[in-house]
Amino acid sequence: MARLELNHLSKRYGDNAVVAGVTLDVADGEFLVLLGPSGCGKTTTLRMIAGFVEPSGGSAYIGGVDVTYLRPWRRNTGMVFQSYALFPHMTVAENVAFGLEMRKLSKTEVVARSREALRLVRLEGYADRLPRQLSGGQQQRVALARVLAIRPDVLLLDEPLSNLDAKLREEVRIEIRELQRQLGLTTIMVTHDQEEALIVADRLVVMSEGKIRQIGTQRDLYERPADRFVAGFVGRSTVLQGRVIAPGQFETAGGLALQCRDGAPGKAALVLRPERIALGVANGMDNRLSGTVEFVSYLGDAIELHVRLSPADRVVVQLANRGETTVPAVGDAVDIGWQRDAGLIFAE
Ligand code: ADP
Ligand code: MG
Repeated sequence: MARLELNHLSKRYGDNAVVAGVTLDVADGEFLVLLGPSGCGKTTTLRMIAGFVEPSGGSAYIGGVDVTYLRPWRRNTGMVFQSYALFPHMTVAENVAFGLEMRKLSKTEVVARSREALRLVRLEGYADRLPRQLSGGQQQRVALARVLAIRPDVLLLDEPLSNLDAKLREEVRIEIRELQRQLGLTTIMVTHDQEEALIVADRLVVMSEGKIRQIGTQRDLYERPADRFVAGFVGRSTVLQGRVIAPGQFETAGGLALQCRDGAPGKAALVLRPERIALGVANGMDNRLSGTVEFVSYLGDAIELHVRLSPADRVVVQLANRGETTVPAVGDAVDIGWQRDAGLIFAE
């Protein structure tokens, strides 16, 4: 258990700055999620923390100790990879014991710690099996046990669930989170799945192109995204292009006059959350518009309507499914509305 601090940590390959100065302070016991599109530098960041990749600049501290250039085995980090990377010819118990033997622990200590780690991931009865005799979810739990056995100060999880099918992923992510909390492990998990990130994180870091775009809680990122990238990456949104013509007034590319929050006059994007738009509204809404339904997604818990407002403007409206007997169909005319505060303005 330890606090982890990164100061302007960076990595260049040739002219390519794949991690361009990442500064982070992860509290002892915190579960931080790094979220960002493929290729934005998430894995490279984790590998620098683990010591598998040497930084081009900046520093990393674990528990107040500068680990920037320490060899991987000299820093107490544990990393779980997307591919489980188990040794196929070794049993589950041998896989878990391997890292402990490398650390030259006594035989009794190795056995005790391996057993404890397998118990934590609920695989006590599987010690003598080979990896191929386990399901994907079980293999990933072995990979986790192998890391927990070394009792890392910092746990690093690189898309640990992306090889699992959706149902299993939902289970295992909750298991990992509960275990992390129980052990009080400082953890960074990488994912490109925003739903997963929102479910497990204490705090989230959104990255793109090697840089941090925003750090915050789920609510911070969703309600106050720092920029249009974050707004588009966390939560669903519809973007209307246009311009702020005066503070509080937005005109879309399709010529709709809308009320919005303040914003500096000029070219801008108006970002709307689908669930903040209401259907069939009348009075009291700052913006009231008529449109035509072009597409309907029946998602079960929600129904989404794509509503054409002008030749250039279409918005997504999400309705909670409360068992209404009539759901608008493609081609129906509908009235929709939203309050000015429901929209976020980003200068373009
Ligand atoms: P992510 O995990 O977010 O998908 P990575 O950290 O794996 O991203 O990679 C970030 C970028 O760095 C990618 O464009 C990748 O091609 C590049 N990259 C990663 N490792 C190397 C390497 N050893 N040599 C050159 N480029 C690399
Ligand atoms: Mg990666």
